[in-house]
Amino acid sequence: MTKWGLIGASTIAHEWVIDAIRAVGGEVVSVMSTSAERGRKYADDHQIAKAVTSVDALVGDPEVEAVYISTTNELHYEQVLATAKAGKHILCEKPLATSIEHARDMVKAAKAAGVVMATNHHLRGASSHQVIRDAIAAGKIGKPMSARICHAGYLPVHLQGWRLEKPQAGGGAILDLTVHDTDALRFVLGDDPVEVVAFDQHGGMAKSGLEDAAMTSLRFKSGLIAQFHDGFTTPFAVTGLEVHGTEGSLIGTHNMTQKPIGKVVLRNRNGETELTLDGGNLYERTLRAFDAAIAGTGKPLCSGEDGVWSLATGLAVMKSAATGAKVAVEPGL
Ligand code: NDP
Repeated sequence: MTKWGLIGASTIAHEWVIDAIRAVGGEVVSVMSTSAERGRKYADDHQIAKAVTSVDALVGDPEVEAVYISTTNELHYEQVLATAKAGKHILCEKPLATSIEHARDMVKAAKAAGVVMATNHHLRGASSHQVIRDAIAAGKIGKPMSARICHAGYLPVHLQGWRLEKPQAGGGAILDLTVHDTDALRFVLGDDPVEVVAFDQHGGMAKSGLEDAAMTSLRFKSGLIAQFHDGFTTPFAVTGLEVHGTEGSLIGTHNMTQKPIGKVVLRNRNGETELTLDGGNLYERTLRAFDAAIAGTGKPLCSGEDGVWSLATGLAVMKSAATGAKVAVEPGL
């Protein structure tokens, strides 16, 4: 049973991760918030015994074995370095950081400390993405030629804070959503992006120069081409992930989400077959894999290096949107 400390009294921990930790048999022993008052209330609301106000107090607690970092993105870097230094395992939210150098240094620090580091790209834990990955690996669609992801929706009112107004915190649709698309596609294809071109949109929801939507085209190492549509401003869009191959197409709908929902259909010369999904919780799957990595019996579902890849792609998309140029994806790993 892993004993967790939380850095960040966040919405994501409240809505998903605390429950998932407990569902897989873990315990949340401490939470760190910069506000003593908010932290104490958060701890009480979630039946967490300890609330602290500094990273050192959290990572230095001998009871804490693993740390979940879900603060705003510009803070992850220092917090991961402090956690690694304290010799605690790390599950860090995406995007890992706001610069690729920082993200790489975070991975290096975890490696040097000999601790597990994972990135919380929860979509790898979706049954829909796992069946798409398995079907591609089993050759069900022949050679994958192209892919499309729609991850455009409406940013819920309770999340309309730093994502819309703080560039320095890594706000905007690209670092929020495009990084998830990149990771989901790398996961199902077993392939990496090489270059991107993108347009962003400033549709009136985001402020301070941040984009609230983006459309991206990508080329992967295998030659596959892909499109992403990410956004906060389209309440009625349907999310989905599709991969089209020489022998068939896999069409996932309603599956770019935190919930264990969605549908996957395989279309080929024999017609349409709906694939069976198990409805498992995405965050619990991530945590089970993390526990197995700590035990030395498995690997994280999404590693620190995977987080570097998705951030490198997100940063390339931002640069392309800003300059109008085609930009190479350079994780530098
Ligand atoms: P929140 O805005 O809820 O929390 C971020 C920080 O804001 C907290 O650490 C907290 O600081 C502060 N904060 C939160 N609520 C309040 C409040 N009411 N008043 C004052 N301060 C507050 O962020 P999210 O949970 O939406 O996102 C956190 C991280 O998780 C980001 O990196 C994001 O990208 C990622 N994320 C990942 C998802 C996934 O599925 N993988 C989904 C959603 C987010 P303090 O701790 O000091 O109190």
